[in-house]
Amino acid sequence: EATKETLGFQTEAKQLLQLMIHSLYSNREIFLRELISNASDAADKLRFESLKNSALLDGEGEIQIRIDHDSEANTITISDNGIGMTKDEVITNLGTIAKSGTADFISKLSGDESKDSQLIGQFGVGFYSAFIVADKVDVYSRRAGSDVSEGVHWESTGEADFSIETVEKAGRGTQIVLHLKDDAKEFSEDARIRNIIKKYSDHIAIPVVMKSQPMPEYDEEGNAKEVTAEPVDEVVNNATALWTRSRSDISDEEYNEFYKLISHDFQEPLKWSHNRVEGKLEYNSLLYVPAKAPFDMYNRDADRGLKLYVQRTFIMDEAEQFLPMYLRFIKGVVDSNDLSLNVSREILQQDPAVDSMKSALTKRVLDMLAKMAKNDEEAYAKFWLEFGQVLKEGPAEDFNNRDKIAKLFRFSTTASEGTAQDQSLEGYVERMKEGQNKVYYVAAENLVTAKNSPHLEVFRKKGIEVLLLTDRVDEWLMGHLMEFDSKQFEDVGKGSLDLGELDTEEEKKAADELATANEGLVERIKAVMAEQVEEVRVTNRLTDSPACLVVGQGDMGAQMRRLLEQAGQ
Ligand code: ADP
Ligand code: MG
Repeated sequence: EATKETLGFQTEAKQLLQLMIHSLYSNREIFLRELISNASDAADKLRFESLKNSALLDGEGEIQIRIDHDSEANTITISDNGIGMTKDEVITNLGTIAKSGTADFISKLSGDESKDSQLIGQFGVGFYSAFIVADKVDVYSRRAGSDVSEGVHWESTGEADFSIETVEKAGRGTQIVLHLKDDAKEFSEDARIRNIIKKYSDHIAIPVVMKSQPMPEYDEEGNAKEVTAEPVDEVVNNATALWTRSRSDISDEEYNEFYKLISHDFQEPLKWSHNRVEGKLEYNSLLYVPAKAPFDMYNRDADRGLKLYVQRTFIMDEAEQFLPMYLRFIKGVVDSNDLSLNVSREILQQDPAVDSMKSALTKRVLDMLAKMAKNDEEAYAKFWLEFGQVLKEGPAEDFNNRDKIAKLFRFSTTASEGTAQDQSLEGYVERMKEGQNKVYYVAAENLVTAKNSPHLEVFRKKGIEVLLLTDRVDEWLMGHLMEFDSKQFEDVGKGSLDLGELDTEEEKKAADELATANEGLVERIKAVMAEQVEEVRVTNRLTDSPACLVVGQGDMGAQMRRLLEQAGQ
């Protein structure tokens, strides 16, 4: 008495599904990468669970992914003997989107297909990409370790709902049958499929198997003989984990495709760094800098971290213990020979080996960024625009590396020509005036306000460069950075601003005279404004403005004040 239920997709899932079908139309072939990637994840999960329960592997041969096709029926079928899904898992995994922030994300989509497709790419197209090429999808699945009678059949046309029923399924794992649209017939053709697999899935560590196409045979007269040879299984992909291969054997294209596989990103990465470490600790790492920030970069709960393998065995996604928070945008893989296969998140948090790996990997990333800044300014400018704000969290979190991090910063300064944050602190220091021993900055809400600050007047007059800080985190950052190259940072809008040796003797004398001459005036203003201000001073800092407000040396900066006011404090 198999009962078939019909259930509706979650609203967000339905919206995402429809958007995907429309905006990814020009890049339809990626559906196969997504489904193979899911099959490979399922194999990884099975291997991982079988470490504790080897019985899960019983009854079937090698873990593999199969691709079958039928060009007459116009179908392509992707099968794996990985972990599989229970009925509840199928309902949840294929009918809802668990990721927090999804509704928010969807509301940001513009309706402009090319823009949206980039955003969707970042979000991870996943399983629903099947509906770009199929007008009906059947999923058969059975969780490893469960009974033959506990198979599940899920079916949908990708519109409002799906149906689900319990069925018998002989083997464990998942089989996905795509009934291709009339205009997607190409994806049921052998050569086309092989091509896509080579292109996108060559480096996944699990064999992707297809039936061989028998070679045609000819008789003596040159007529084609009836094919009698049985097709045999043939592994189509390279099936060695990319990061275990040597750098010189891997093409840029392979690196790019591997990045897309692990990151779910559509765009190519900006840079990568692939290393093998030997010695006290042994591990491989392959780290990527994406070209675009994810939509949820500031969501503290968003996924981050590396894919962790131990001796080529997948252990977990989003292992966040290997990189600091301010490098959370880095994607990649780390494969350790020292950790135990039974390692858990809790153990990772306490293992000193993980700490050493974390500092080494952090250094790798900072070096990779420094190299990019030096050798590829254009790429670095892109990087800064996307991730600069996050990198600014660095000095507070990672005090030991703060000099390295500070070198990576870019600021707008009074020397910038456009509006981009394009000046490094090293450049600033090189341009410092004789006798200058501080890095000056002004913090404001935006660049126009910063540039028009009356505090800049004296600096302009003397030709001293000033950083124009307009990001919300800037003053907070200055508080943590404190100095660069032994030069302190100084807020030009604070206190009495001692320019030290930058003032000539005459200027100092003139300032003293001005102060003496105006003592009476200052007293009068003080008396009138006693409620509003703490102190009134004569200044020679202004050339055009008659007066300006400054905050006390030890007080919070103006920008910080506004920030806290906004936060209701
Ligand atoms: P993602 O892979 O990013 O999690 P997908 O949309 O590709 O998102 O897949 C959604 C979920 O469906 C997966 O997380 C997984 O739990 C489940 N799933 C998809 N394909 C398979 C499969 N072949 N075997 C087991 N589970 C699968
Ligand atoms: Mg997926």
